[in-house]
Amino acid sequence: MESAAFCISCGSPPPLTSERLCEGCLRARTTFSEVPDRIQQHRCAKCGMHEVEKRWVRIDDEELGELRLRENIAVTEGATSVAIDMAYQPIDDRTARLHVTVEGKLEGYEFGNQYEVLLQTSNAVCPTCTRKAGAYFEATMQLRSAGRRLSEEELKDLRATLDELLAELESDPMFFVTKEGPVTGGWDLQFGSKSLARTWARRLIRKFGGTTKETSTLVGMREGSEVTRLTLSYRKPAYSLGDIVRWKRENWLISAWQKDGPMLRRLDRNERTGVTWRDMEKASVVCRFDDQKVVDILNRDSSGAEVMDPTDFRVVTVALPYDDDGSNQNLRIAFIDDSWLAMPGHTGVD
Ligand SMILES: [Zn+2]
Ligand SMILES: [Zn+2]
Repeated sequence: MESAAFCISCGSPPPLTSERLCEGCLRARTTFSEVPDRIQQHRCAKCGMHEVEKRWVRIDDEELGELRLRENIAVTEGATSVAIDMAYQPIDDRTARLHVTVEGKLEGYEFGNQYEVLLQTSNAVCPTCTRKAGAYFEATMQLRSAGRRLSEEELKDLRATLDELLAELESDPMFFVTKEGPVTGGWDLQFGSKSLARTWARRLIRKFGGTTKETSTLVGMREGSEVTRLTLSYRKPAYSLGDIVRWKRENWLISAWQKDGPMLRRLDRNERTGVTWRDMEKASVVCRFDDQKVVDILNRDSSGAEVMDPTDFRVVTVALPYDDDGSNQNLRIAFIDDSWLAMPGHTGVD
């Protein structure tokens, strides 16, 4: 203990702080924490999103209150064991009161402050809504089919994958559809973001096969760089996974998509081959996946099985597929050239 130490402010004897102040003078000189009486924030009047750290996000009111408090509170340097407690009291749609308690220690002494803060919300328009309102778009997506018109059903299936994607990517504000509608032979959409168009195109190809063609158009200059718009044309093949096609006078199953075309699996023996989109122009669909049926095996011998014809309920015999291992309870059958044909690759489920 330094015997000659006194408070530098009032001359009191120890105990003293590291700055040689008595407790009273420490308290008199310390503003432990500071919080403004009012905090102003912005909310998009159109979509209800809030600006948080330069981004526009959807956020729960109470969580937002805590965040605003964190942004606006200051605690004195050197404070330890700081605990901030907040109760959120909504007043109306634009106003809330934050009841704040701050506690902590400084130089071993306990400090505490209490505040009531008014959180006020004013209207703004977020960049996404500004762009939507101005019919802003960066990319056009054209959905087409190779050599024919897309059916309503196909369009519905294709479009549904965009909703799935948007649900997954919701957090990106530029992922919006500006405009969409039918055109001759297909469907056109305008997107706020090129990357959304590209991401969706990749997903379409993975699921439905097909190809895309990209073209860019210069639409102007902004801050010294070229502004382009992307047109992505997606062509869905005339066949889908699981469809049976006739190609080179044989029946094949569309078994997978590859970059240059589908992978085919032959129906009557174990053979697979990858073909190009161009090769496939000579192929025709003989039985769609949706038209195939799964039927129970009533009786079987080494090469054939009796099943019920799903159209007229008569018992017919079909040849077992080459990969039948004798364990399947049912078969997937397709009606081709006036008779039912059992398909390989059926696992007994489905
Ligand atoms: Zn003192
Ligand atoms: Zn908005």
